[in-house]
Parts: sequence; structure tokens; C-alpha cells
Amino acid sequence: MMKQKTIGLDLGGTFLKAGIIDRSGRISYRSKYTVDASSAERVFETIGQAVRECSIADADVAAIGMGIPGIFDQADQKIMNSPNLHCLDGRHLIELMQSVCPLPFLFDNDANCAAFGEFKAGAGSHDGPGGTLSPRSFILLTIGTGVGGGVILDGKLWHGARGYAGEPGHIVIDRKGKPCHCGGIGCLETLVSASAVVEAYKARGGKDVTCEEVAHVASHGDPLAIGAFEDVGRNLGIGLSVIINLLNPEMIALGGGVMGAGDFLLRPARAEASKRAFRESYLSTRIVIAALGNDAGMIGAGLMACEKLLGT
Ligand SMILES: [Zn+2]
Repeated sequence: MMKQKTIGLDLGGTFLKAGIIDRSGRISYRSKYTVDASSAERVFETIGQAVRECSIADADVAAIGMGIPGIFDQADQKIMNSPNLHCLDGRHLIELMQSVCPLPFLFDNDANCAAFGEFKAGAGSHDGPGGTLSPRSFILLTIGTGVGGGVILDGKLWHGARGYAGEPGHIVIDRKGKPCHCGGIGCLETLVSASAVVEAYKARGGKDVTCEEVAHVASHGDPLAIGAFEDVGRNLGIGLSVIINLLNPEMIALGGGVMGAGDFLLRPARAEASKRAFRESYLSTRIVIAALGNDAGMIGAGLMACEKLLGT
């Protein structure tokens, strides 16, 4: 019988997460490894160890998908720039992977993997992966220290010309705004992130605390904290209106740690997007909270490998 499962890997600057993923996106086994970022070879030794241990845990695995942090060139299968794993910059990944891994594999940007995971098995999955009620066009925004994301059009991840598509965090919403680490000015993620929430809270007279603490006091009715989420939520809504007017996707899912604030952020974001986007376009785009949390990238990487390497 044909093997059914894949290994989903989510590579970060500090940890590698590994999981065995079935065709519906369920995780039947998981483990986590510390990444030694001193050289690409050391990083791939750890990847090899994860693959071996997953293969021992379940003999049914037949392919591997891995999400990679940073700017990944799909055409050359090369990382152009990985801010948290500079040892991989400019390296061709196929040879490195072949040296540690006997199974077929594929790579994608980590945020693209998370978008694919949410689309197939999370917020975008109403009646199971690929179900008839599921959206065909879907955008994920993950809001944490920055804003990441991915774009799915007609049921397929949209890579653009070479794989660089899907960077909603760098939509410019303030021409004279703050510098962004990407080199731009006034990008969405300079105004919508955990630190942006803290800045907005302080600007309204609040203390210098963490984003979680701002969310906590907001839930107890603190008007400064609620106001801070309104400020950040309205900025988010501007970004959403750009996406809605450009693509009119059936669904936009919002994930990442900052979305732990839930309606405090979602309500002003929806209100602002509804004011700025074309009315019919706004009304036909559902804006929801993502469902898979930190597992989205690992699940999406596994499901992508399943779809592209195992077939249906
Ligand atoms: Zn930027």
C-alpha cells in the first residue's frame, strides 16, 4: 500500500520542530531540536537527526517538507538572506539536504508553509482538507515581532516570479513612517507588531510592559490598553484594505502571538478595512482568527510535501 504520511519540518533560528503529518494535517508524533547556527553543515546534521528519528517513530513516512526562515529563491532552491540563520545565506539547499536525508523533499519559505497549513487544515478548512466549503483564495497574516504571511490563489500557494511573493508585512501604509528592518519606510509591520502595541500603549500614557500584559489589562477593561489595540488594529485594517482591494480573497486569517488579543484587535481592524476597501469587496472577504497556532508551519510543510511528492 502507498505510504501516506510526511515529515513536516519548521526550521527557525533557535529550534527545529519536526512532526509526522497525515493527509488531513493531524500530527501523530512531534519533537523539537536545538539548532546550532554556527554552520550550515551543523544545521543540516540536526535536520538529518530529526528525519532519522521521525522515520523510526513511524515507518509510514515517505517524504519531507521543510519551512525555511528568510528570503528563499524557489527557482534556484537557495536562501538569499536568512536574518536568523545567516550561515545558510547563499547556500544551495538540495545538496545539503541530500547528504542527510534519503527521502524525497521540498522546501518553502516558513510563512508560506504556515499559510498553506492554515488553508488546508486550519482556518481555511471547513469540511476537511480541500473540502467543497473551503475557500479557494486565502491570505494568512501572522502578527508577532513582525508581520509574515502567505497568499493562496485558486487553491495554490502563490510564489510570484521566483518565490518572493507573499510579504504583507511590507505593504507601505505610511510614506513618512518609521524605518523598517527590510530597508523600507512605514511598512505595515512597523505599525502592527507586539512592539507596536507596547509603543501605542506608552503613547497613551501606559507603562512600559509586554504586549501580553497590555492584552491582559485590556481584558480587565483598561481604557489605555483597549485604546492601544484600537490604534494598532486600525493600522492593521489599512493593510487589510489594500489586500482586499487588490485580491478580494474569500478569506484572510490573522495569526501570531499578538492576535491573542482577539477582538480588541480584530474589531478596529475590521472597522477600518470596511471604511477603506470597496464595500462589496470587503463584504465578500471573511476576516477570521487563524486556528493552528505555532504548528501551522510544520503542518503546512508536511501537507505541501504530501500534495506535491506523494500525489493523491
Ligand atoms: Zn518592511
